Amino acid sequence: MLRTIADADRIRAEYSAGGRAVIIGGGYIGLEVAATARELGLDVTVLEMTERVMNRVTCPQVSAFYAAEHARRGVRIRCNETVRALHGDASTGRVRCVLTEQGGEYPADVVVIGVGVVPADELAKAAGSKLVPVFAIAAKSNWKGSVRSNATFCILPTRLL
Ligand SMILES: Cc1cc2nc3c(=O)[nH]c(=O)nc-3n(C[C@H](O)[C@H](O)[C@H](O)COP(=O)(O)OP(=O)(O)OC[C@H]3O[C@@H](n4cnc5c(N)ncnc54)[C@H](O)[C@@H]3O)c2cc1C
Repeated sequence: MLRTIADADRIRAEYSAGGRAVIIGGGYIGLEVAATARELGLDVTVLEMTERVMNRVTCPQVSAFYAAEHARRGVRIRCNETVRALHGDASTGRVRCVLTEQGGEYPADVVVIGVGVVPADELAKAAGSKLVPVFAIAAKSNWKGSVRSNATFCILPTRLL
């Protein structure tokens, strides 16, 4: 979990040059962590379950640009790889490799999970709320709930901005 500076320091302490980092999720978070780990000298692999990185937030051209830029700096990006399990070593209590549904097996010394979130919209749907196909930013106190429609992330505020 990365929430505080102490969390960041703890994660950084796990990074040792030459170590193998597997990053699960090729979104903003995963790619940012990948870039940092690579700069610190780790061998970095990003596993993304869709056909391109940053699929939720950008067009294919922008995804291709960032994929190429990461590759140029030595980050290995593997798309169409859905993570299904982490295997560990019982004697050390540490993760050993990441397994994917497609049969991939990626050895790892450090694993970072950045798979995003999906809004819990069941209640809003059950209540018959009208789902709006827009992305809106609102003060949390104004939110009625969060909803998602197709690939678009939607927030349903009490009033639209
Ligand atoms: C349309 C839209 C507009 C936005 N506009 C803004 C904005 O203007 N400003 C702002 O600050 N924020 C904005 N956001 C929010 C911002 O994009 C998110 O906060 C950010 O994308 C979260 O990054 P993330 O890496 O945590 O998750 P995501 O971007 O969701 O990335 C997670 C990745 O993990 C992959 N994944 C999930 N499960 C697995 C698995 N099992 N194996 C492998 N891969 C997996 C997913 O396919 C996905 O690519 C916007 C979001 C959307 C959708």
